[in-house]
Amino acid sequence: MSTLRFNVVETAFAKKVKPVEAPGKASAYFGQKVFNREKMFRYLPEKTYKELMDVIDNNASLSHELADAVASAMKKWALEMGATHYTHWFHPLNEGTAEKHDSFSEPDGKGGVIDKFSGKLLIQQEPDASSFPSGGIRNTFEARGYSAWDPSSPAFIVGDTLCIPTIFIAYTGESLDYKAPLLRALEAVNKAATAVCHYFNEDVKKVQAYLGWEQEYFLVDEGLYAARPDLLLTGRTLMGHESSKNQQLEDHYFGAIPTRVMAFMQELEIESLKLGIPVKTRHNEVAPNQFELAPVFEECNLANDHNLMIMSLMRKVSRRHGFRVLLHEKPFKGINGSGKHNNWSLGTDTGIMLMAPGKTPEENLRFITFVSNVLKAVYRHNALLKASISSATNAHRLGANEAPPAIISSFLGKQISTVLEHLENSDEEDFNLCGKQGLKLDIARIPELLMDNTDRNRTSPFAFTGNRFEFRAVGSSANCASAMLVLNAAVAEQLQLFKTEVDKLIAEGKDKFAAIVEVVSKDVRESKAIHFDGNNYSEAWKKEAVKRGLDCETSVPLIFDAYLSKSSIDMFESTHVMNHKELEARNEVKWETFTKKIQIEARVLGDLAMNHIIPVATRYQTSLIENVYRMRDLFPAEKAAVLSAKNLEIIEDIAQRTIFIKEKVDAMVNARKVANKIENERGKAIAYHDKIFPMLEEIRYHIDKLELIVDNEMWTLPKYRELLFIR
Ligand code: ADP
Ligand code: MG
Repeated sequence: MSTLRFNVVETAFAKKVKPVEAPGKASAYFGQKVFNREKMFRYLPEKTYKELMDVIDNNASLSHELADAVASAMKKWALEMGATHYTHWFHPLNEGTAEKHDSFSEPDGKGGVIDKFSGKLLIQQEPDASSFPSGGIRNTFEARGYSAWDPSSPAFIVGDTLCIPTIFIAYTGESLDYKAPLLRALEAVNKAATAVCHYFNEDVKKVQAYLGWEQEYFLVDEGLYAARPDLLLTGRTLMGHESSKNQQLEDHYFGAIPTRVMAFMQELEIESLKLGIPVKTRHNEVAPNQFELAPVFEECNLANDHNLMIMSLMRKVSRRHGFRVLLHEKPFKGINGSGKHNNWSLGTDTGIMLMAPGKTPEENLRFITFVSNVLKAVYRHNALLKASISSATNAHRLGANEAPPAIISSFLGKQISTVLEHLENSDEEDFNLCGKQGLKLDIARIPELLMDNTDRNRTSPFAFTGNRFEFRAVGSSANCASAMLVLNAAVAEQLQLFKTEVDKLIAEGKDKFAAIVEVVSKDVRESKAIHFDGNNYSEAWKKEAVKRGLDCETSVPLIFDAYLSKSSIDMFESTHVMNHKELEARNEVKWETFTKKIQIEARVLGDLAMNHIIPVATRYQTSLIENVYRMRDLFPAEKAAVLSAKNLEIIEDIAQRTIFIKEKVDAMVNARKVANKIENERGKAIAYHDKIFPMLEEIRYHIDKLELIVDNEMWTLPKYRELLFIR
């Protein structure tokens, strides 16, 4: 190992692993840093508390008096907790979170300061919004957007700051973030699903969407990370030959967690629990240095806030343990990438899980109704759902063999498939058997059938797993809201359509259950193309999917077009989740972000190739040349030629590869110049995808070959075998 590489490793390993002490039982500190219901009850007068619950649970309107009372209680609690600042915490379109801290204290006019926090400051603020992506909705000269309190997600304290979850919207009303449309989608699915529930249960008042995410991530030693400019600047390694040992032995998955990593996990869990995040599962993942963390599922909006909080906690806590966390979907070539499975379901305020079978035929008809509506929604919007999880970074994962392919389909398992087949082929007589006499359609048998849970398919991007659907194509660095708002909105739209059709049949005099079965059967037939229980990684499936008419586009900039198709615009507008203008603006941001990511990678790779790789390779080549000359001094010409033959080959190999790299880097600079002149963001992103991205791979190929040839002493960049094995 070169002296440089050795030094950086030393600094990181020098950090001792300090065992993390838990502050007692989890129940003693869970939610300690959250202004949750329990604290609201304690800090608010009873009447005010009740009013606030009505706002949170039933969307009742929020009066100024109530906001003032809540702000004052929140301030009291925050000051007691040692907070000095507050911030509106929001999710701009650049995939992170944003905050601007203000101090509670203000001059009191008498030479002192006083702590202040009013209802007005709680409800609404105007962050200087001009530097957040807006896709042109907000021109820089009228940079007026505001953040508005989301009472459904509780405020929390990080460090010395009270963080208030907010939505971020333009003064003209368009959303500039992920939370606003997510909340609208959740409201849409609540309304539509509640209406459909009423066919079965009159007393349902509310339907909630649930999300249980599973966050995968890599850890690397901080010292090694610092010596890899590509990791530092792009989040992934742009070069690096595979380590001789990586995941072939499959010895990392569920293996013992290394001590240093365990200390990190423990601290992360303690911090998460204090923030009210119900973390539950931790384990090693398939690739070396890859891990997973999952909480118990929660209401979707809250679960998403918690995921964003965890991602930023991971970044902070990892540094205290001499690590850097990598949330990029594909930090290392040749080994598994990281995803974030989104487990999703719907449940009522009366405690019914709508994606779980029940005990009676009627309960099971309800179950099949919801499952088939989800399938229909996923079928109708499969291109859009793919767009919702697509990004420059996730593109490395989709289609590679460890992740779902860039085709959305749904796995149901043998049991549900059998029921759906029955429905598909059922006839008028079966419908007549509905209602009083029960159903003939195998629906009664579902619970027994589902007992067999071995029926799992890990290759499906959208799999039914017993009581929920698991959307597996979501990327590890993504804001889950992107996928969740599309899924919930699509299901909401479908449930509305379903209800309209069923109501029509009922109005024509059909029995309620017979009408439901009839529409469900028709929907099952119509959405058959989305149902696939086979191996999604196979070549045969790609061909089959084309035949079935599913969206098979693989170019990310073109995948984004799905947001602007007529069916998508109709869906978003009919559910009031987003309008045409917002969709167009968001796509501008998506294309621009795609371009920038590839642009940065191209620059970083160009720099490294020119000022790391070529100089090092040339230095080694020179030492070989020197050796060839010395051989001639030592031995007769003929013998010297024989002895130097291998070195001459290497000298030539290095020469050819460095020439290729230099030429490609120049070509890449020129291709960027051409692409940068393209005015529209879509065209530019397509150019970056088609022209520049492939060059990164071509250059890398030769760099990785050089890594194998050049003297290890001289190679300055930490190698995969060093980055990937935490000691
Ligand atoms: P696996 O790796 O087998 O998929 P995990 O236990 O790692 O399972 O993660 C499953 C996730 O799904 C957890 O977050 C869990 O809380 C969540 N989950 C379980 N049931 C539901 C449900 N009905 N709706 C939404 N999420 C659920
Ligand atoms: Mg899972």
